[in-house]
Amino acid sequence: MEDSDSKLEKSLSVLSIDDGTSSQHSEESDLLVKNEKENNDFHLGHTKQPTPPPVEAQVHPELLSICPLRVSDANSRSPNLFKDGLSRSSSYQDLHIPVKMMEEFLRLAWDNTAKNLETCGILAGSLQDRVFHITTLIIPKQESTSDTCQTLNEEEIFEVQDKRSLFSLGWIHTHPTQTCFMSSIDLHTHYSYQVMLPEAVAIVMAPTDTSTPHGIFHLSDPGGVSVIRNCQHRGFHPHEEPDDGSTIYEECSHVYMNSTLSFDVVDLR
Ligand SMILES: [Zn+2]
Ligand SMILES: [Zn+2]
Repeated sequence: MEDSDSKLEKSLSVLSIDDGTSSQHSEESDLLVKNEKENNDFHLGHTKQPTPPPVEAQVHPELLSICPLRVSDANSRSPNLFKDGLSRSSSYQDLHIPVKMMEEFLRLAWDNTAKNLETCGILAGSLQDRVFHITTLIIPKQESTSDTCQTLNEEEIFEVQDKRSLFSLGWIHTHPTQTCFMSSIDLHTHYSYQVMLPEAVAIVMAPTDTSTPHGIFHLSDPGGVSVIRNCQHRGFHPHEEPDDGSTIYEECSHVYMNSTLSFDVVDLR
């Protein structure tokens, strides 16, 4: 495992050298130092995970647009992006998702899906070299309908994460017959994840949606986050679009599919 780690470090440093960061302004160094400090503020320990270097994923064509090799972007952000007040997404740490985990989740959900019942899972993982890695898929006890899914015995989820020192990096759920989108209930559920960790993602798997069989979403920040923060409604209900012209939720741009990242499944059902 140590060997894999050092390989990853080597590969990352090679990527860094190649991306021309050495010529960048020193403000970026300040930024990276700041990020490093923020990371250190997370008190959960880093677990050693086997993490071979990310390579081109053998996945659906639409996944290829999020090429894992873009990991070097972590070192090549221009400080100007922040000065220009562009989307906050440019300040997210990268997050890697094991490609096979999404397929495995669909397989584990299949019995429910065939009965038109949703299934949900928790995405947990660690932070290494300023990159979040989803390493564990936790399937909690749950109660679901065709368009909702409620986790039960949440203390069991926390126990798994505690024992393994894992962050909550988001959640995944199926839409057995609906299209791939975030319902109003999904948006409120995701709000809790995103306020805990801005990088948290919501993966929707919609096997019957032929045009978009899956999506990786989060609330736009600050637009969507503030709409949901100020919404007192529960159950399905409509939302106004954010005042700043953004959509309430969007596809994540800080996410990379990693075909070699290994993962565990903890099925608590
Ligand atoms: Zn949903
Ligand atoms: Zn609402």
